[in-house]
Amino acid sequence: MSLVITDLHAQLPDGTEILKGVNLEIPKGEVHTIMGPNGSGKSTLSKVIAGHESYEVTSGSVVMDGEDVLEMEVDERSRAGIFLAFQYPHEVPGVSNANFLRAARQARLPDGEEIDAVAYYKELYAKMDELEMDRKFTARAVNEGFSGGEKKRNEILQMMMLDPTYCLLDETDSGLDIDALKIVAKGVNSMRSPDRGVLLITHYQRLLDYIKPDVVHVMAAGQIVKSGGPELALELEKDGYDFLKTA
Ligand code: ADP
Ligand code: MG
Repeated sequence: MSLVITDLHAQLPDGTEILKGVNLEIPKGEVHTIMGPNGSGKSTLSKVIAGHESYEVTSGSVVMDGEDVLEMEVDERSRAGIFLAFQYPHEVPGVSNANFLRAARQARLPDGEEIDAVAYYKELYAKMDELEMDRKFTARAVNEGFSGGEKKRNEILQMMMLDPTYCLLDETDSGLDIDALKIVAKGVNSMRSPDRGVLLITHYQRLLDYIKPDVVHVMAAGQIVKSGGPELALELEKDGYDFLKTA
């Protein structure tokens, strides 16, 4: 069981090709990370997997445990088990965090089945405790007036509560402070499971001080150009991406 991306090509509406044949397989039970220079297409890849409307897939496939992801609507992809952090609204005025998460959970249940409110709150509070989140966040509107670190915690809480099969995290935020890094790490590490695959996109080797990936990929110019074990991240930290120029 895995998320398999095969020869994926995607372009902007003006015809500019951004993904130029991406090949990647994330088996359940593994944490993979993608690193690479700015502008190489890392964020685009995660958006295309989630179904972002700005990109047109021109060829290739994304298959999750045998299911064709590219055929699915955006919300279907998320209900099918793909979690992409930024797919979720940044701010939802008037909707409390607890109700937002509850609605998202409800949407994942079979027709006619009701969420067990007592069990739901018990689980929510346990996960909030794990992330050291104050209970007052359950009543606050989603992300409204949250600080950067609070949003990050909330994003990880959403991921933990939705129990996805494949998690895609794009840590683009250059402002991630050490606390935020630790929250991301704690969330990802707690989500490690034989039943789940994780793809972590990051510019920061230091995030990998807290999360040990099984596989490290390097993306450049719209393709995965190199893959290796955790030691590859250390080499990149030391030597940078100069090897790309001679490749
Ligand atoms: P990375 O995340 O690796 O830094 P991106 O996927 O964000 O790279 O971007 C890859 C390239 O595609 C960049 O040159 C970027 O400017 C361009 N690009 C991505 N999305 C858009 C968009 N919606 N409109 C215009 N250019 C885009
Ligand atoms: Mg990016």
